[in-house]
Amino acid sequence: MTYRGVVLDLDGTVYRGNEPVSGAREAIAALRERDISLLCFSNNPTLTPEAYADRLADLGIEVNPSEIASAASVTATYLAREHPDDRIFLVGSSGLRDQLEDAGLALTEKWAKTEVLVASYDRGFDYDRLTEALWALEGKTTFVGTDPDMTIPHSDGHLVPGSGAIIHAVAGVAGQEPDIVLGKPSSEARDAAIGALELDPQQCLVVGDRLDTDIALGAGCGMDTAVVLSGVTSEADLPEADPSPDHVLDSIADLESVL
Ligand SMILES: [Mg+2]
Repeated sequence: MTYRGVVLDLDGTVYRGNEPVSGAREAIAALRERDISLLCFSNNPTLTPEAYADRLADLGIEVNPSEIASAASVTATYLAREHPDDRIFLVGSSGLRDQLEDAGLALTEKWAKTEVLVASYDRGFDYDRLTEALWALEGKTTFVGTDPDMTIPHSDGHLVPGSGAIIHAVAGVAGQEPDIVLGKPSSEARDAAIGALELDPQQCLVVGDRLDTDIALGAGCGMDTAVVLSGVTSEADLPEADPSPDHVLDSIADLESVL
């Protein structure tokens, strides 16, 4: 298969924490040489596309902000379309707050007046914030999660809790499942990926380290998929994988072998 577009996960695929995955720079250079369109798509909802571009530039990888999507950009797009005037209570990072405000959304700290509760990765999350989220969900509040990632790979090899952990904490205490969870592999994320590449999905490849988000996104889009074993997925997970990836790579360093 000759691919014309690649959707590339970042955490666990291109870098782990602050460390680049060995061979990532060369693999992305190989995409450029072949004129393959690139969309970097992260479920980390804390950074703007510009901040991702800066982070990649620090690793020696040149990517235009227009080639970057994230759970935050998908969430902002969704909220701007479905809840443009609703009061939004955010349990999430300051980086996500900035992006939602930049999208013209109406954020509030008054939980009693909330129409939408957004739950996301938040290092400052504590008992008091959980209590406010519980109260914000009283009544007819719409419950939105930015992305389902329960954990994020850290540079020291350990995992740390992600948005999914906080969404589950809120859902558990409120006895209410989210109305929608955005980010990969949601239908909103599929639309974002297909819309950004403007290619026939059958000519595209999704590369990522998570079966339940990256590979599920690719399968849902009708794109081919390649799992890399440099992040949260190990070889032992593969027999149970559903959907199963089309390609298995030790890391992004082997990407050229499937292009
Ligand atoms: Mg990843």
